[in-house]
Amino acid sequence: LLGADGVARPTIFAEMSALAAERDALNLGQGFPDEDGPAEVLEAARQAISDGVNQYPPGRGIPVLRQAISDHQKRFRGLDWDADREVLVTAGATEALSASLLAFVDRGDDVVVIEPFYDSYAALVGLAGGRLVPVPARAPDFLPDPDELRAAVTDRTAVILINTPHNPTGTILPDATLQLIVELAEKHDAVIVSDEVYEHLVFERRHRSIGEFPGARGRAITVSSAAKTFSVTGWKIGWITAAPELVDAVLAVKQFLTYVGGAPFQPAVAVGLGLPEAYFRGEAEKLRARRDELTAALESVGFSVNRPGGSYFLVADGAPIGLHDGVVTARRLVDEVGVVGIPISAFTVPEHRADFASLLRFTFAKSAATVSAASRQLESFR
Ligand code: PMP
Ligand code: GLN
Repeated sequence: LLGADGVARPTIFAEMSALAAERDALNLGQGFPDEDGPAEVLEAARQAISDGVNQYPPGRGIPVLRQAISDHQKRFRGLDWDADREVLVTAGATEALSASLLAFVDRGDDVVVIEPFYDSYAALVGLAGGRLVPVPARAPDFLPDPDELRAAVTDRTAVILINTPHNPTGTILPDATLQLIVELAEKHDAVIVSDEVYEHLVFERRHRSIGEFPGARGRAITVSSAAKTFSVTGWKIGWITAAPELVDAVLAVKQFLTYVGGAPFQPAVAVGLGLPEAYFRGEAEKLRARRDELTAALESVGFSVNRPGGSYFLVADGAPIGLHDGVVTARRLVDEVGVVGIPISAFTVPEHRADFASLLRFTFAKSAATVSAASRQLESFR
């Protein structure tokens, strides 16, 4: 995590956002919205601060938020979670993931991860002292091969870490794959950590949570967050839902990472989780239109695009127009058309970079004006 000079290396997202700012380019690199979320959620946070909700909240999160998380899981996934024992509020999904891995990974244990993967996964496996076992999800559909999954999960596997909808590819894991993952976890007595932060940003079909699959209860930890659903990435309110013994193990670690966090944001997120269904559908519809506009622009200059089923992201492949090195392509796009994207090789282990070399990730989770402007600029790429 440190460079050769002993200085902490910035994440790929911080690096690309700094580049966008420095070059005055449009930032389709780091996935965060450039528009505010729902007014009633923002107002609830302001109100909470005025009302004096500014001291340590309870360790598991305020009861109102835990109940809202439980109600939301019931409403959208048909799942029953006890708000007192099966819900834990965390400092973003990031802490939910950190505490879960630290709780269940002992030194030398395997952690199976689908590659490419969100950048913090490899770092967290390292911090927990585990061994990262990547299972490739290759172009063009970015789905893991069931036989490769079967081969990767063994009795050495402590955790299978999955993410659906997926960052960086936008892929949604099919039901059969989720069921297979549960079966493999049962067979090898592994815990599943399922990162579902993009659960509401699905474009063509309903999200299926790992918790909906037979056999998952007692073995799966579902992770989600307010960041993407309510466009509040800076609030860092996340949560897990899991069986009581799993929640307690994660809480035991979490209490020494941050203890608690985000007191005035917790009631505000509870307001958000209770918004009518039209809000959630509306957010996905907005993003879907932006996905389509950006896809058309990239395709018009010869990239092939994966048309993701969910998330903030799409993958563009430069190979059809002879662009085989995504790092070079990313630099050219900044220099020549003023648009920042991220090479997918930033989301792989170094040994597998070549398999993903020609691919770039772009986020379409920006205002309609930003996505349109970036699309027009990309169309001029020659
Ligand atoms: N998981 C994935 C897949 C993400 O893309 C992100 C980043 N936004 C996170 C976790 C972190 O979420 P949070 O901001 O709630 O910590
Ligand atoms: N999740 C965001 C992305 O993938 C970035 C989060 C971060 O900067 N750590 O772009």
